[in-house]
Amino acid sequence: MSVYYNWTKEIKIEELQESANAINTNGIVVFPTETVYGIGANALSKDAVAKIFLAKGRPQDNPLIVHLAQKEDITKFCIIQNEIEQKLIDAFMPGPFTLILKKKNIIPDIVSANLDTVGIRIPTSKIANELIKASNVPIAAPSANVSGRPSGTEVQDIKQELENKVDIIIDGGKTNIGLESTVVKVIDGIPTILRPGKITPEDIKSRIGIVKINDKIFAKPENEEQVESPGMKYRHYAPKTKCVLVDIEDEDLQIKKVNEIVSEDKNAVVIGFSEHEKRVNTKNFISMGSKDNLEEISQKLYSVLRKIDSYNVNLAIIEGVNKAGLGIAIMNRLLRACEFNVKK
Ligand code: AMP
Ligand code: MG
Repeated sequence: MSVYYNWTKEIKIEELQESANAINTNGIVVFPTETVYGIGANALSKDAVAKIFLAKGRPQDNPLIVHLAQKEDITKFCIIQNEIEQKLIDAFMPGPFTLILKKKNIIPDIVSANLDTVGIRIPTSKIANELIKASNVPIAAPSANVSGRPSGTEVQDIKQELENKVDIIIDGGKTNIGLESTVVKVIDGIPTILRPGKITPEDIKSRIGIVKINDKIFAKPENEEQVESPGMKYRHYAPKTKCVLVDIEDEDLQIKKVNEIVSEDKNAVVIGFSEHEKRVNTKNFISMGSKDNLEEISQKLYSVLRKIDSYNVNLAIIEGVNKAGLGIAIMNRLLRACEFNVKK
């Protein structure tokens, strides 16, 4: 049985102690962060971490991110090898930012999926931060969802998948950002984005002077062995319903294409911008938010993707956003949700 704690208004001190006790006795705890909910365990205990892989059905070669309460703790678990890594830490931590660093042996191999590196993040979320501090250990936490499904951004969605597979579920309301952290690794001296997120390439360029985007971000991985970021090779974020992404720069042409597909398959649902609801020829419409508000779109994205299956239709037609700024992260997730089925 999972125990529920409601901290949407405030953190309850006794329950915080219970949650920390659970972490310290190899339990697993679902908790909110500013990006998405995490399913967390003591990162120093391989038995505890193994329970996360089991609960999620996560492939063993997909490494976990380790969450810390403060920057001072990074060198307890990792080695900072160059000035660029230090600059990235100074610029973006705490925040929705994960840095891949050389790991020390204290981090068990199960956490890093046998890589000699580990992803480190320091959340700004007060609940996440208090939980890590009270536990007094680093917390390994992937997104709170069954592997392959959209990440959990509110407890109602998480309950359906992880109920009774975890010890405690802490409700902190809807997560603020809604997309997972930006994952960055310094490769040949250049900060390289392995997974886009709220911290954009422009943000990194403006603080560090240089940035690269891994070329797999928008591409279907061909050789499964050769990805820099193991998570990228898996089916991800996908509803059970077949999805198609319509990605056309011109707004009118994009709507025209959506309507063409609707006319071919009447049993479809459209996931589009709120402004387009009246221009799309179907009543099956889910708003993904305003086209001019990418923050709103990312915040809602995973609950919108989860809603698709409740329509019981043959096809979900999803409108694409511009691949700029936060749009890069949104399109990275949508392409995977649609399994790279794109109409241009
Ligand atoms: P999740 O925990 O579900 O947000 O996924 C974390 C993702 O971060 C993984 O799927 C990897 O793609 C990436 N990641 C974590 N650790 C590493 C690492 N050591 N090297 C490269 N990528 C990593
Ligand atoms: Mg995930």
